[in-house]
Amino acid sequence: MSRVLVTGGAGFIGSHLCEALVERGDEVYVIDDLSTGRLENVAQLDGHRAFHFTSGTILNYPLLESLVRKVDRIFHLAAVVGVQKIIEVPIDTIEINVLGAHNVLTLAARHNKPCLLASSSEVYGKSNKHPFTEDDDAVYGPTTKSRWGYACSKAIDEFLALAYFRSKKLPITIARLFNTTGPRQTGRYGMVLPRFVEQALRGEPITVFGSGQQSRCFADVSDVVTALILLTDIPEAAGQVFNIGNPEEITIGELAGLVKEMTESASPIRLIPYDEAYQPGFEDMQRRVPNIEKLHRLTGFSPKIKLAQIAHRVITGKLQEMETDVPVMPGPSMGVRFGVRQ
Ligand code: UDP
Repeated sequence: MSRVLVTGGAGFIGSHLCEALVERGDEVYVIDDLSTGRLENVAQLDGHRAFHFTSGTILNYPLLESLVRKVDRIFHLAAVVGVQKIIEVPIDTIEINVLGAHNVLTLAARHNKPCLLASSSEVYGKSNKHPFTEDDDAVYGPTTKSRWGYACSKAIDEFLALAYFRSKKLPITIARLFNTTGPRQTGRYGMVLPRFVEQALRGEPITVFGSGQQSRCFADVSDVVTALILLTDIPEAAGQVFNIGNPEEITIGELAGLVKEMTESASPIRLIPYDEAYQPGFEDMQRRVPNIEKLHRLTGFSPKIKLAQIAHRVITGKLQEMETDVPVMPGPSMGVRFGVRQ
């Protein structure tokens, strides 16, 4: 049993991580500013004697320090996430992602607490070399396009983390998360799978941005959490960068078709130009495929959940959420297929 701090623990990935840590007997402390995180995400842990929630920002150094002192190790997940959000709040994106990570790293070093930094596949930018391997070059667009501010903020976090490893001997591991999805993820900040599912279940148009030929690889959050925990359990991982993801690739157009079929929705699939979906001149990544050999070699990790099952889990979760929310009109046999409605 160890005591663990999870920054961003009320977020989508953070909350699943907290559940897994509590389940294996760890004592978990969370700090979350509830900007995109939600208390509902950790409601099932509320009142558990091994779970401690603090509402606050990682920019509050004394508050963060009081929590760092209490724990044996840190998972740093707090960040501004989601392409939509990054375009809406570019200042917060850079300040929270860079200054917040700086606070976490200085405190981890001061109190000698091993740390895992959650980074992002965005750091590869729009490189055309596939699959992405940890030492590949990053290729970014101009600073006038705010999307790249997120990639650069995460790249700075990685530089800083590696510098702390080299200069201060801080045991820090960097996890580059590829598209992660699953139950409890909201479509509010742009994440495509929950958005498509919400649209399909409401009978609204399924909005495919651009041509729909761009592709992504989606990993289930439970696989990602397994990989994160495996990495922190292995001391040799410190000072290194690891991709975490599921290499199974699908175009966004195909994903829209899959969701429509699985939900038996009558929603039309509508192509929306990027300029309209985001902002004029928006640049998207055409492909993003993880090479996870390095992670596999060190930890033995392979993703267990395939895309159809991931979609199934997201649909089931959304149906449950929407049952307590607004009326949904699912296809005729949906309840039988997903086992939610009798
Ligand atoms: N996307 C889409 N429709 C939506 C939301 C997203 O077609 O309603 C596309 C988006 O343009 C991108 C892909 O789906 O090509 C994945 O988007 P997401 O924001 O989930 O993650 P990203 O990979 O961009 O970080």
